[in-house]
Amino acid sequence: MKLTTEESVLNYIKKRIRSAGNIVAILGIEMLVEGGGYDLDSNDETYRVESDYGFSPEEMLSASFFNSKAEKFYRFYKKEILGMNVSGTPAYDALLRLQAQGRLSAVINQNYHGLPANVYFNNVIELNGNIRDNICPRCNRRYGVDYVINADTIPRCEQCNIAIRPNIRLLGERVNTGLMTNAVAACANADVILTLGKNMYSDQLDNNFPESRQLRVLFSKEAFMSESKAHYVIRDEIKAILPLIIE
Ligand SMILES: [Zn+2]
Repeated sequence: MKLTTEESVLNYIKKRIRSAGNIVAILGIEMLVEGGGYDLDSNDETYRVESDYGFSPEEMLSASFFNSKAEKFYRFYKKEILGMNVSGTPAYDALLRLQAQGRLSAVINQNYHGLPANVYFNNVIELNGNIRDNICPRCNRRYGVDYVINADTIPRCEQCNIAIRPNIRLLGERVNTGLMTNAVAACANADVILTLGKNMYSDQLDNNFPESRQLRVLFSKEAFMSESKAHYVIRDEIKAILPLIIE
């Protein structure tokens, strides 16, 4: 595949990464999509889901929908969210190289699908939680994802007999402030921030520190809001370009 990024830009970013001791990666939607997942916010997917379920993904992934229509929520969630198979890409391998060199200080993930199997980062901040973790809202007992998959309809707490819920951030719920504080601090201290795909937290993560010698690179095929804060915007596939700039 032909790359669209100019070679001089690539070389400059490569040089900055080579000399950086503290790099933070923010994983957005393209990391999921390039690994075989799909973007439920895209027009096509929204249309498909609406015609299959009668509601949009946004409606069904909300706290109010979960609370009032748990059975419909789980019908959608099990098939569309838990049924999404996400595998690793060369972009993850490149980040693992940085980690092995001791230069990847944090990975901030907005995707609640978590990381592909065989990818392990020492410091992951999952701002939207993780589908592998499920919890009873009454007694806080934890359940694995298999418990949810194996339930006929609504997975219920064995003790309380009420619907357990995935420990992910549903729409209408606040982001965990402790996690956000950690994410902001990690970004503030970074020499280089690699924003890998569209994500909902760019504004919060980028706003809070003064101009510094930090380099911010955004990788996204589509234009999205907070591009102005990036020094460079890369339109190529992340899995194609990241291995070229991380040695
Ligand atoms: Zn319980």
